[in-house]
Amino acid sequence: MIDNQERKAEYYKALVEKKSEYEGVFYVGVTSTGVFCRPTCPARKPKYTNCEFYETAQQALLASFRPCQRCRPLSHPNQVSDIVRFLVEAVEQNPEKRWKGHDFRALSIDESTARRQFKKRFGMTFVEYARSRRMGLALKSIRSGEKIINTQLASGYDSSSGFRDAFSRIMGAPPTRLDDSRILKAAWLDTMLGPMVAIADESELYLLEFVDRRGLESEVARLRKRMKAAIIPGQTVAIQSIERELTQYFEGTLTEWKTPLHPIGSPFQQSVWDQLRQIPPGETRSYADIALALGKPTAYRAVAQANGANQLAIVIPCHRVINSSGALGGYGGGSARKEWFLNHEKRGVSNK
Ligand SMILES: [Zn+2]
Repeated sequence: MIDNQERKAEYYKALVEKKSEYEGVFYVGVTSTGVFCRPTCPARKPKYTNCEFYETAQQALLASFRPCQRCRPLSHPNQVSDIVRFLVEAVEQNPEKRWKGHDFRALSIDESTARRQFKKRFGMTFVEYARSRRMGLALKSIRSGEKIINTQLASGYDSSSGFRDAFSRIMGAPPTRLDDSRILKAAWLDTMLGPMVAIADESELYLLEFVDRRGLESEVARLRKRMKAAIIPGQTVAIQSIERELTQYFEGTLTEWKTPLHPIGSPFQQSVWDQLRQIPPGETRSYADIALALGKPTAYRAVAQANGANQLAIVIPCHRVINSSGALGGYGGGSARKEWFLNHEKRGVSNK
């Protein structure tokens, strides 16, 4: 979500005046209706206080807005593909569906055509689109965070709410009795590279990931199982601490991560993550370097796996591990983010 007041004022003006030069520059989520629009939407314009602005359609989806039926923000202004329109509508009819190859065949749609057309229009595949929408709905509860926490603990989840149901499916069922179950809290953190989710108890951080990270749902399920924990929306000291440090990190003023971490993994994974934390900002290592530092020079594949299993993005800097060839290598949060972190950290070091 765009936070800058001047920028928001500028975008709101563009929205009211339906300025076409802002097409693709921003999307507006309307909190009173739950839809998101392109700047030139012909519908009546929302109040400023009901507007949230996003740079990409995906961010608006992840923030739980659904695409407007009038301006169809997921279609190119002058050219709407029937397949794209059809699939966007199919997702709205059943936003929690996980799409598989046979679903496309049942609709007589070629999966690779759908993938290509979505990618071309919105920079994400259809499956990524459907997933963003599903996650957005599921994460709606943690966006509102503290507002609902008190009533939630008193009454359990409101089972009539589809949003709560979706949240429970990802974060787990709410505790029936508070005394026999550990409680972790989940919070939504907006960053300049997109929204993140933090899961923590009062004193330690267990998970920090970009909301659009593939596999986030199964990471959360593993965490719940390992900790025998229930996860509910809320704030803790550890979450406030990591939020503060993330802001400093993105501003380039952070000197050291101090939020206590609780990484969940095997002893070998823990040893890899310890090594990662010793890579100074502005520097990179290869998987082979890490394996060597652990005294297990042939274990670089296991190192790569442990690296990928890291659930504390940025703080445990798995983004500082690149291929031996010097190529950037993969990253769970997307290689564009990896590149951004490395450049950002390099700049930080040269400024000191
Ligand atoms: Zn609209």
